[in-house]
Amino acid sequence: MIRRAPHTGTTCLSVRTAGPASWAVVDSLRDRAVEALTDPALAEIVDLVAWPDDGAIVVSNAGGSARLRPGEPDELVDGVSPVANQDPMGLLPYEIERADPSPANARNVYPLAAERLLSLFEDATRAPDLAVVHTPRHYFPESGGHRGEHGSLDAIQSRAPLLLSGAGVRTTGLLDDHAWLRDVGPTLAWLAGATPDPSTGRLLDASGVAVDGSALDGLVDRGARWVVGVLWDGAHCADLLHLAARGELPAVARLLEQGCALRGGAVAEFPSVTLTNHTSILTGVGPGRHGILGNRFYDRDTGRSINANDAASWHRSAEWLRPGAATIFEQLARSRPDAQTACVNEPVDRGAGYSTMAVIRASGSSDGATSLTRALPDPSRSPYLGNPEHLADDYFAWATQVDDAGVDQMVTLWQRPVAAPVLTWWSQVVTDAGHHAGGPRSAAARDSLRDADRRLGAFLDHLDVLGVADDVVLVLTADHGFEEVDPACRGDWDDALRAAGVPFRDEGPGFVYLDEGMRP
Ligand SMILES: [Zn+2]
Repeated sequence: MIRRAPHTGTTCLSVRTAGPASWAVVDSLRDRAVEALTDPALAEIVDLVAWPDDGAIVVSNAGGSARLRPGEPDELVDGVSPVANQDPMGLLPYEIERADPSPANARNVYPLAAERLLSLFEDATRAPDLAVVHTPRHYFPESGGHRGEHGSLDAIQSRAPLLLSGAGVRTTGLLDDHAWLRDVGPTLAWLAGATPDPSTGRLLDASGVAVDGSALDGLVDRGARWVVGVLWDGAHCADLLHLAARGELPAVARLLEQGCALRGGAVAEFPSVTLTNHTSILTGVGPGRHGILGNRFYDRDTGRSINANDAASWHRSAEWLRPGAATIFEQLARSRPDAQTACVNEPVDRGAGYSTMAVIRASGSSDGATSLTRALPDPSRSPYLGNPEHLADDYFAWATQVDDAGVDQMVTLWQRPVAAPVLTWWSQVVTDAGHHAGGPRSAAARDSLRDADRRLGAFLDHLDVLGVADDVVLVLTADHGFEEVDPACRGDWDDALRAAGVPFRDEGPGFVYLDEGMRP
């Protein structure tokens, strides 16, 4: 059995220090915003809105409203609940998703909605007043949207693959189960030798509080000499398993011969965006505890908008971590201070012995990796690129360069077994580029999975050459899933907020902060 990870954070929702009269102004503004956003005219683009209320979460859309509390039955306020189905195994088997991709709210699934939304709103100064969730079909290129999207609360955008393979893995094949992404980091750190707190059975954050995630000790035993975590950014869980079964991802198939995968994958935090979930994986806590609430968010404390998910700022991501957050490298160092660790092409790297981002920081580059691109391998000469036509997409081309450099770093780190890191984390990004370009099942998405598979295969071959494959346990995951938008489904809810006279800022988009000047 997989141990579940109930919400354990300290909830500090609705930090209300001023008098009730001034908060009444905020409540009134929020009411007006909700009324505008849940107008049936916006139902094609607004899946639901969510906000905290007295320790609960209220979700609302044009069809109804409900109050959610973890571990309790949902309380229907009116109409039909916007999150009526919260089954983490929903929209499986894969045929169901393929027959009805990007489904409307009534047919969609919102796993673990209460826990995930509560964590978002836990942050006292960075949490928005209101979160607006896109419908899966919403296309918003004017705000950075693509043909394939993620970020929403629903199952497919929130479902990352989770495969465990090699030394100590208890079973092989596909399992009808799921985990959380917040379990992945604690699993890796525990496998590498981090000692859990005896009273809770969990690893501890920097403040000595148990992390939210649990080691998946029902699936794998300790004992491997080396632990490797691999992330394929945005890799679609069901399509990855589908292609592997068809023989199109031979490296993934090799992993499955020696291990298992969860059909329900690992559930991402909300929003199902990149840096929020990389950070949850690598700290074992939800966004309300680690502080990276989204790719973009606003901090009322500093009055600054933070764009965390950008090549120019990735190497600085640790600056935004809340003081309580501890990375898995830091958690492992408490138990094994001399253990070698490595973190390849990953922003959440604090405490790692080797880190790509540390190299970028040490270079003194004022714009991070951006101006270092010329030092990366020529993508047109990539030995892992299946279809050169994808290089016409700048993101795919850059990702090919970055991921090729990732293979080089992995092989260099693993030149000799005696010097190989006990814990290695390897992040690949081309899968995000491929899925954004065309959505899941598109040629670009599937080719990106095949390219990533060839890079993984090169590393597995290298382990074979070294003769150490039987002493390695490897975990393959992602940070979120993907759904395809409908290019005809356009619109901007900000127009409705402005028309309603609501003063606000919208970060993300989807994090609505009511105007600073109107707050107590
Ligand atoms: Zn991502």
